[in-house]
Amino acid sequence: LLSAAGEVAPTIFAEISALAGRTGAINLGQGFPDEDGPTEVLEAARAAILAGANQYPPGRGVPDLLRAISEHQRRFYGLDVDPDREIVVTAGATEAIAAALLALVDGPEDEIVVFEPYYDSYAAIAALSGATLRTVPLRLPDFQPDPEELAAAVTDRCRVILVNDPHNPTGAVLSDGIRAEIVRLAHQHDAIIVTDEVYEHLSFTAPHAPIATLPGAAERTLTISSAGKTFSVTGWKIGWIHGPAELITAVLSVKQFLTYVNGGPFQPAVAVGLRLPDAFFTDAAERLRAKHDQLAAGLDAAGFEVHRPDGGYFTVADASPLGGADADAFCRSLPERIGVAAIPLTAFVRPEHRDAYRGLVRFAACKRPDVIAEAAERLAGLRA
Ligand code: PMP
Ligand code: GLN
Repeated sequence: LLSAAGEVAPTIFAEISALAGRTGAINLGQGFPDEDGPTEVLEAARAAILAGANQYPPGRGVPDLLRAISEHQRRFYGLDVDPDREIVVTAGATEAIAAALLALVDGPEDEIVVFEPYYDSYAAIAALSGATLRTVPLRLPDFQPDPEELAAAVTDRCRVILVNDPHNPTGAVLSDGIRAEIVRLAHQHDAIIVTDEVYEHLSFTAPHAPIATLPGAAERTLTISSAGKTFSVTGWKIGWIHGPAELITAVLSVKQFLTYVNGGPFQPAVAVGLRLPDAFFTDAAERLRAKHDQLAAGLDAAGFEVHRPDGGYFTVADASPLGGADADAFCRSLPERIGVAAIPLTAFVRPEHRDAYRGLVRFAACKRPDVIAEAAERLAGLRA
């Protein structure tokens, strides 16, 4: 996790954001929205701070948030989650992922199977846990895994199948067939499914369905989400994880020594968000989809080959037609050249697998329409 010079190596997100800052480029790299979320939620945080909710909250989370998470899982997915025994509130989805993996795996004999490309913290936490990471490639054109490659990767050594749906960075939503196969393999090899669903409310093709809703899945699935994306409060770092009580106890035993607790006054505010009417959630997805449309039109006009996402913050586009067959170099020069920052997909894969994704670039669409319009205008300069 250290750079060659022995310093903390910045994440790809921090690195590209710093480059955007230095060059004054529009930052379509790091995924964070440039508009605030619902006023009710922001006001609730202020009210909680002024009402004195400023000391350590309970270890599992503020009871009202635990209840709100349980109600939310029932309202949207028909899932039955015990707020007292089956949920832990975490410092973002990031801590939930860390606590789950550290709780479930022991050493190099244990394997974590993950789809590649993957969110950067997965491989870092797998390394910290000491377990062996096995990757299953997401294949072009639609970034689905090959069922045979998936089945070959999951063996009796697999402790965790780590899933992210909708997916960062590709924008893919897993097909029903693959989701069912994940559950089948978890049963066959006695593995736990850990599923990161932080983009649950930003699915464009069909309503999101957590893996835990599949037959036989809930008993061996830990479901993770976060307020950051749904309520445009990525800096609050309120996440949660739910699943069978004994697994949640194991997660809590790790979480209590990672951060102990977090985000006291933000927790009741997120509870307000989770109880917003359905229209809030459908509007948020609709607005983001429109931004993706706008971004895709701009990328298309600039000469990229665009892969339309089914969910999440990001659109992937192939820069090869623009001479960007090496997207790594392309992304490093883009801010200086035309004033737009983006992240190469190679940042989300192991070095030995980079060739399969070499020309692909991830653009964040979670920006104001005027910002996307300006970015599109600058990108058009690539054709010149
Ligand atoms: N998982 C995925 C797939 C993400 O894209 C992100 C970042 N937004 C996270 C986890 C981290 O979420 P949080 O900020 O809640 O820790
Ligand atoms: N999840 C965000 C992304 O994928 C960034 C999170 C981070 O900076 N660690 O861009």
